[in-house]
Amino acid sequence: MIIILKANTTEAQAKEVLHEIETAGLQPLHMPGVERTVLGALGDERILDALNLEKYPQVEKVKPVLSKYKLVSREIYPQDTVIQLGNTPVGSQQFALMGGPCAIENEEQLLETAQYVKSAGATVLRGGAFKPRTSPYSFQGLGVEGLKIMEQVGKETGLDTITELMDIKDLDDVANHISAIQIGARNMQNYSLLKAVGETQKPILLKRGLSATIEELLLAAEYIVATGNPNVMICERGIRTFETATRNTLDLNAVAYIKEKSHLPVIVDPSHGTGVRNLVSPMAKAGVACGADGLIIECHRRPVESVSDAAQALSPTDFSELLQQLKPFIEASGRTFKPLAAAV
Ligand code: PEP
Ligand code: MN
Repeated sequence: MIIILKANTTEAQAKEVLHEIETAGLQPLHMPGVERTVLGALGDERILDALNLEKYPQVEKVKPVLSKYKLVSREIYPQDTVIQLGNTPVGSQQFALMGGPCAIENEEQLLETAQYVKSAGATVLRGGAFKPRTSPYSFQGLGVEGLKIMEQVGKETGLDTITELMDIKDLDDVANHISAIQIGARNMQNYSLLKAVGETQKPILLKRGLSATIEELLLAAEYIVATGNPNVMICERGIRTFETATRNTLDLNAVAYIKEKSHLPVIVDPSHGTGVRNLVSPMAKAGVACGADGLIIECHRRPVESVSDAAQALSPTDFSELLQQLKPFIEASGRTFKPLAAAV
């Protein structure tokens, strides 16, 4: 529930209410604002119902949080959350651009691709070291060796890095070598993994499950935040529908809906959302237009050689043309486009 305190309530009076919330075994939240302080109480609904906080003279109003997800909801935090992904503030005025190959294949491939995406204007390098492949016979990723390559390439180029974590056993390695952690679509409801990344303070890109509803996606984000890590970015990467012309159906309704209901940044992935190279550019623009805070796009120095997701990989020329074309869309959406050279 949300507890709105009267204007000019003192710090000590706020603490008095927080103390009662804590003593009842609930999680207290303290949100001092410019005009007035708002408190929160989260936990067992039966205990919440029994609390009678209106009795305090400093309490103006007590309101239930209606959505199932609480901490990620704008009901509790109305302001946009900005997450610092290395040098990139995600969820801010500055539009976030992440690019790179589907998988880290070797050092030359990653370095060359990284240099291209950086010169086009991306500030975050993506690439998988642990790949969730549909077939066990497909390339599974370079593992820890890939993380080391990515760390090295990140240092050489000045790009921040993001990679997928599939298994808790690799958490320390990923956290030590890489700037941000991706939780892939197939693991969106792996609650042990969500809690494990919730124990860190790393920026987390949580991708929507293949058949997950928006509510399930936001509840998955709630797991991470409730465990203690507020640095969550939501990623719309397409869902499975009856449509077979494209790999997935990029659900842009979800972007506008999540931006309205949640304060977390939203990133659109038009690569997995379409699975088709020629559709990446139009859907990237559509993502910007409907309010995304950033894009994550697959790019390979030579797409035909890509060991995974070749059909959706942009060439360096395609990637740089797309970023040029995105500029007016980014500006029209009230944001700025800041390539790395200008960002630091
Ligand atoms: C990826 O980013 O390469 C990937 C496997 O994404 P998703 O989990 O969205 O399928
Ligand atoms: Mn991929």
